[in-house]
Amino acid sequence: MKVLLHVCCGVCAAGSVEKLLPEGHRLTGYYFNPNIGPAEEYEKRLLAAKTIAGITDFPLIVPPYDPEKWIESTKNLSQEPEGGKRCEICFRLRLQATYDYMRSAGFDAFTTTLTIGSQKSTETINRVGSEIGGDKFLTRDFKKQGGSQRAAQLAKQYQIYRQNYCGCIYSMRKT
Ligand code: SF4
Repeated sequence: MKVLLHVCCGVCAAGSVEKLLPEGHRLTGYYFNPNIGPAEEYEKRLLAAKTIAGITDFPLIVPPYDPEKWIESTKNLSQEPEGGKRCEICFRLRLQATYDYMRSAGFDAFTTTLTIGSQKSTETINRVGSEIGGDKFLTRDFKKQGGSQRAAQLAKQYQIYRQNYCGCIYSMRKT
């Protein structure tokens, strides 16, 4: 299948792609992450994602960075803990954009690297993806069987940038 893979960062891409490629899909990455702040952090993660795309040989689409809508959608949820209501909105915004691009560009299906994050709810991500895309969303759990640890190992091996907070400024402050 032609699969559009939402890529949240290079580390998660490294671990997820390693699990998806053996399924025989033709992957294209989609780096849509208006949640990441500040802009310098967005660029660091993008560079790492590009490095992994180059090493594992898949094209990476990068829409313009425009955090305004994300900020507007989450402004009343700044005090939410990681894993709370803000995160579900964050997942939905990114997966909806990935789905829209998938439809417009003729892909067969879409999925995301997000489930490899050890702090992120696989159940919520898969539910949101399925609500948006029905059976076009490939439900996966990339953190299974040591997936998160493997991603960290690959990041070290490829010497890419590894962030120490989830992505938004709220999660950065907490760290
Ligand atoms: S903590 Fe992470 S998943 Fe939650 S809103 Fe912030 S960037 Fe999004």
